[in-house]
Amino acid sequence: MIRLTFHGTRASTATTSPQHQWHSLLQIEADETSLLIDCGSDWRDRLPTATPDAIILTHGHNDHAGGVTNDIPCPVFASEMTAGLLTSRPKNVRIFPAEAELSFGPLRVIPFPAPHSLRAPMHGLRISSGDSTLIYLPDVATLQNVRSLLGGAALYIGDGSSFDHDYLRTEEGASCGHASITDQLSWCAQAGVRKCLLTHCGEEVCRNPEAAGLRLAGTGSMLGLKAEFATDGMVLEL
Ligand SMILES: [Zn+2]
Ligand SMILES: [Zn+2]
Repeated sequence: MIRLTFHGTRASTATTSPQHQWHSLLQIEADETSLLIDCGSDWRDRLPTATPDAIILTHGHNDHAGGVTNDIPCPVFASEMTAGLLTSRPKNVRIFPAEAELSFGPLRVIPFPAPHSLRAPMHGLRISSGDSTLIYLPDVATLQNVRSLLGGAALYIGDGSSFDHDYLRTEEGASCGHASITDQLSWCAQAGVRKCLLTHCGEEVCRNPEAAGLRLAGTGSMLGLKAEFATDGMVLEL
């Protein structure tokens, strides 16, 4: 069993709501193992748990890595580019190669490159324990090979930056920015993933979380999916 706690679910937007107050930070636990995924500047000097076994960073943007300080009490796993963008120097930084499986007790984590930013390259995470698998992609612009990357997952946790505006731009021929929620739901439908949670909520969602939630549930059910926004403090088991 995997236990998920969404300590924070907000993107870098200045607008906050009680449901989406803090930068996206997900705690994942299985048996006695506890991982934190991302640590944006909102979490500087106030980690939500005193003793994680590790922190894994998806990329180097401030809302994901800006809370990492020299005093972080556990190993910090990051890609080489992400580690190079850290403004602090924690004692125990471990570089992961993409596609290599990391093991933490019963949890297996496979980072995979996902288009989002050339300056701060993003790694999505495929996280499993036993036969439960989830995908964590809080910032993503596009996705190739949707079926092979998402297939077999019981849960997709994606990028809630915007419903329709896919905040996309092209940098040196590569798609960067944020895919719309609607596009991500269609990836899930293609890959047969039936449950979707959106975190990293942007302006549109933070301004009116209730309306956004209704709209998300409706769009999801048209595609045969159960879709909702993760909210700060939400706990669920997989
Ligand atoms: Zn972000
Ligand atoms: Zn980002």
